[in-house]
Amino acid sequence: MQELIKLKPLLSEAKKIAITHHYNSDYDALGSTLGLKHYLEKLGHTCTVISPNSNAAYMNWMPGIESVLEYEQQKEETQKVLDEADILFCLDYNIFHRTKHLAPLLEAFAKTKVLIDHHLEPDLASFDFGTSTPSKSSTAEMVFDFIQDMEHDAHLDKHIASCLYIGTVADTGGFRYPSTTADTMRMAARLMETGINTSHIQERAFDTKTEANLRLLGYVLNENMQIFHNEHSALIYISKEVYKKYNIKPGGTEGLVNVPLGIGNIIFSTFMVEYENEVKISLRSQGSLDVSKISKENFNGGGHKNAAGGRTEVSLQETLDIHKSILINYKKQIETCYNELQSAL
Ligand code: 5GP
Ligand code: MN
Repeated sequence: MQELIKLKPLLSEAKKIAITHHYNSDYDALGSTLGLKHYLEKLGHTCTVISPNSNAAYMNWMPGIESVLEYEQQKEETQKVLDEADILFCLDYNIFHRTKHLAPLLEAFAKTKVLIDHHLEPDLASFDFGTSTPSKSSTAEMVFDFIQDMEHDAHLDKHIASCLYIGTVADTGGFRYPSTTADTMRMAARLMETGINTSHIQERAFDTKTEANLRLLGYVLNENMQIFHNEHSALIYISKEVYKKYNIKPGGTEGLVNVPLGIGNIIFSTFMVEYENEVKISLRSQGSLDVSKISKENFNGGGHKNAAGGRTEVSLQETLDIHKSILINYKKQIETCYNELQSAL
């Protein structure tokens, strides 16, 4: 894989460009891809963002979202865009299988493939150009860096800025997680200078709960949350029955995994949702505890050090048993990390 900036000559004349992100989009996935699309269109390219599956309805305020193709609903249109594209950008994921059913189409793409991502363990051999930097706060920040490296700061406008801002705010938990750097804050300042209303953007982005969401929250915190004080750990799970009963929509459980971390001595949180043929797992940690490793070793997953995910194809009960074994096997590591955090300030 060559450095991203080496792509510059290829972008010197108008191209057809497809831009993709991972399955089950979040604000960084859509913010980075839409931000890149708005920027590349200013250079005269024709761009289409492709989502592997449908995007949560609450994201419908994002500039450009109406033009996004959702592969699972628009298979033929997606195939056509990929057939005609000169360049394929892959953002906020680093291995094709993270796009699920879209993966075979992307693997078959025979022209230039470009990676921009901040997850661990990239499949570098699959890409011609790119940048993979796990220390970066968000893929949105990496798109901002790309625009700067291209010496196109003057192209920044409100549409680009809104998208990149919300991607970064979401992936840093509102500039809170340790991935937030001085560069992240300088970028935020530069994006604000375009005139975006950051307060309004965050209200649109995050004040999106429905009554059903809050009732679900009440139910699961009461009934399905376990706190393991000795292990500084927490678990929340949702069975298929509860998922149906509360009529949960895509994105409707977003953020639940973070809730137990609000308890001072909890530094490791696990969230499970049971679907028809799999259990999806989200893991969060604080400090040096590497949940991407825990996910890889136990849940066929990966992600970042402090935010990872994975899945099992066994029952919810068996998945809960795996969690039990994790608390035993990683107890020492969790304890060490907790002690580090206690003395960190
Ligand atoms: P979330 O818990 O929000 O779904 O995901 C947290 C982080 O873990 C994200 O950065 C996401 O890309 C990664 N992640 C989630 N699920 C999986 C998975 O099944 N496999 C891998 N490798 N990463 C995942
Ligand atoms: Mn991201």
